[in-house]
Amino acid sequence: MIRLLILGGTGEAAALARHLADRPNLHVISSLAGRVAAPVLPPGAVRIGGFGGVEGLAAYLAAEGIDAVVDATHPFAARMSFHAAEACKRLGVPLLAFVRPAWAPEPGDRWLPVADMAAAAALCRGRVFLTVGRQELAPFAPSDAWFLIRAIDPPDGPLPAHHQLMLKRGPFTLADEIALLRDHQIDLLVSKNSGGPATHAKIAAARARGLPVVMVERPARPATEQASSLDAVAGWLGRLPHTP
Ligand code: NAP
Repeated sequence: MIRLLILGGTGEAAALARHLADRPNLHVISSLAGRVAAPVLPPGAVRIGGFGGVEGLAAYLAAEGIDAVVDATHPFAARMSFHAAEACKRLGVPLLAFVRPAWAPEPGDRWLPVADMAAAAALCRGRVFLTVGRQELAPFAPSDAWFLIRAIDPPDGPLPAHHQLMLKRGPFTLADEIALLRDHQIDLLVSKNSGGPATHAKIAAARARGLPVVMVERPARPATEQASSLDAVAGWLGRLPHTP
């Protein structure tokens, strides 16, 4: 029996848990950070909350007898990925990063790539659709621009003086996103380069309306083995040495 820990909080992690749910000889535990008040739970065992840094994660892996870890966290959850790399290295636990490919600009896209939220905030003018989640809004607080801020749960840090909050969980359709940009007379979209289909409609909608997109590029992540499809993850699991 292989005990697999999936570091989750993404649609891909939930899809992976579903994909592996019926496999014999595999016990899957999904881990969520606990950021979202009412998370969509994957099938199988679920634990919720931080581990307590590298030390806490290493202690958890040892105590639970985890044989392998798949890091399926969001591409911007870099701290968790570095912690996983360090804890797994210490214990010799095999680690695979399940990474969705980044979006690439297509003809008609008007992207302004930036390295971080501070650089994104510096480019905000007019009426801005801000879709970077609720945890990294502080750099936008001093801005004079008007913001439509969309997030799943209410933000708790400082917010810009002029804003409207929209609490909604995706996925969103292209037609809805185009209507949203039109109805709120949006001039500019700010997005993380999250990749994947679930939140891509806003990017296509900005293209359809000829709007610029301030695209926050991904943070650095540890140099671990990577896969980008469910089948590739399943193949990696199949190649693991079986524990007695
Ligand atoms: P982060 O900055 O990389 O991690 C901060 C801390 O949160 C970690 O040190 C860890 O706490 C805890 N943590 C993160 N992911 C965890 C997991 N899957 N299970 C248990 N603890 C976890 O992470 P974040 O950017 O705040 O993201 C938090 C969660 O939201 C992740 O699961 C991620 O997949 C999901 N998410 C993030 C984004 C985003 O844009 N950042 C978007 C969608 C979903 P300890 O040090 O105490 O272990």
